[in-house]
Amino acid sequence: MYETTILIVEDDPPIRHLISTTLRTHGYKFLTADNGNEALMEISTHNPDIVLLDLGLPDIDGIEVIRRVRTWSNLPIIVISARSEENDKIDALDAGADDYLTKPFSVEELLARIRVTIRRLAFLRNAKEENESVYVNGKLSIDFAAGSVTVAEQPVHLTPSEYKLVCILARHTGKVLTYRMITKEVWGNSWENNMASLRVYMASLRKKLEKASGGDQFIKTHVGVGYQMLKL
Ligand code: CA
Repeated sequence: MYETTILIVEDDPPIRHLISTTLRTHGYKFLTADNGNEALMEISTHNPDIVLLDLGLPDIDGIEVIRRVRTWSNLPIIVISARSEENDKIDALDAGADDYLTKPFSVEELLARIRVTIRRLAFLRNAKEENESVYVNGKLSIDFAAGSVTVAEQPVHLTPSEYKLVCILARHTGKVLTYRMITKEVWGNSWENNMASLRVYMASLRKKLEKASGGDQFIKTHVGVGYQMLKL
């Protein structure tokens, strides 16, 4: 089996210790860094599979770390933010983070996020080998070339906006996409003006997918943040 290496970037020793103990107990390999520069160094030299990144670091800001990493790598970054950094969390996702955890978090929550990310990595590895024009996730299937969506092998009729939404979410399966990212992709730049439309189209899309699948929840809502296609 493929062994996952996780880089923990955290300047607070008790939290770093909690995370590393948890990872060790569950058989994950890990590296640690206690500031942003060290994190960048570890990422470029050791090429970890996943990064757990605290946003409040003593040298470079966590968001800046994400921006720099994204200039050369797509590796999954799970942000760990304090409640006082709520807005930073959205900026971190916009900068290219994949998911987030808010402090204080439970060990179970942390492990769940890591499992989701590992499933997504495996999914991406397989997708590269298969025909990339067809997306399959549980009962949901999208034929990008034909522009058609089926659920449980039955065609689902979507409006053009709903189709665009499902494609954007599918192309970033497992990643939390902010309202800003989604509205920019679908309607252009003025995302605040499109929030109401986004909610309406998303509600309708979810309803169609849920009904056709017999109740499967493909799309997770992150209140005040955005949406995420789950890997089923
Ligand atoms: Ca910190």
